[in-house]
Amino acid sequence: MTIHKTSDSSAGPALAGQLARAYATTAPTAALGPLSIPRRNTGPRDVRLQILYCGVCHSDLHTARNEWKNTVYPCVPGHEIVGRVTDVGRDVTRFKPGDLAAVGCMVGSCGTCPSCREGLEQYCENALALTYNTPDAETGAVTYGGYSESIVVNEHFTLRVPAGLDPAATAPLLCAGITTYSPLKHWQVGPGQTVGIVGLGGLGHMGVKFAHALGAHVVLFTTSAGKVADGKRLGADEVVVTTSGDEMTRRARTFDFILDCVSAQHDINAYINLLKRDGTLTLVGAPEDPLPTAAFGLIMGRRRFAGSGIGGIKETQEMLDFCAAKGITADIERIDIQQINQAYDRLLKSNVKYRFVIDMASLDRDPR
Ligand SMILES: [Zn+2]
Ligand SMILES: [Zn+2]
Repeated sequence: MTIHKTSDSSAGPALAGQLARAYATTAPTAALGPLSIPRRNTGPRDVRLQILYCGVCHSDLHTARNEWKNTVYPCVPGHEIVGRVTDVGRDVTRFKPGDLAAVGCMVGSCGTCPSCREGLEQYCENALALTYNTPDAETGAVTYGGYSESIVVNEHFTLRVPAGLDPAATAPLLCAGITTYSPLKHWQVGPGQTVGIVGLGGLGHMGVKFAHALGAHVVLFTTSAGKVADGKRLGADEVVVTTSGDEMTRRARTFDFILDCVSAQHDINAYINLLKRDGTLTLVGAPEDPLPTAAFGLIMGRRRFAGSGIGGIKETQEMLDFCAAKGITADIERIDIQQINQAYDRLLKSNVKYRFVIDMASLDRDPR
């Protein structure tokens, strides 16, 4: 792979870039395995991280297997990144070598559209650059994610990791964390409210923790009776096993807000009917097929059915600082990079409590 010179001619002599060890997949049905990938040299506003940990998000699996029909191969997934700063460009002001830092789902945006100007880069209308599988003008390839020993990211898209947070358990905050924190804040969840969290997986377990920390009365909905105790341990005041129709009927019109974290097909109307007047149900899970919605469930009670995607950079930093103040991290299972294919198989069976995190030091176990 060749690396093109960056557009910033003042960055120094022609940039050769550097090769970094990574795990990639080369086809939808191929396993992930070792591959060297290009990382650009550190530009004036860039931060280079040695990646310590990377969470495993379901989006990684969707993209690796081309389930969204847009994957460019080779593909290096990973957008829950925590690392140590090793190098900064001359114009970088907020980071220095040795700092603990993080990168989430985005590495670039236009900076000028209304969403970018409001600090909502995730909704950039022109040039949102995701951490992996987005065309990369710097290298001529696509962006490569966190299943790698290093990454180079513009300072604006680099987060500070506050002291006191466990670095491995912090990694999932960068996607699963902000994806649930942002809608809870946007819809002003707080004390005195009854809030539902649907589904106890990577997203849902963070939703329960955040809603509890924000002071709401938290009700977890799960299809699995085996998750009741864990739901309460994580902060749910009540756990409803949704296979009981009576229980659902009894709770009609009692919820201020419901965060739906389920990415499998399910009956959305059963949850809309639980909302009070003017209540909102927000989707953060992404089922493949459309969800049929009964009009009267929304009309009667002026209820709202909404969606939400990750969070802006400013809010992601606020979330990390909130986590440090409240002592919140993800519940994780650490794996070595060599176990990533088995981890994907387990992820498909929801057999993880509640997020895999790759210890990137395990890359050293592969032959050089
Ligand atoms: Zn993700
Ligand atoms: Zn923009």
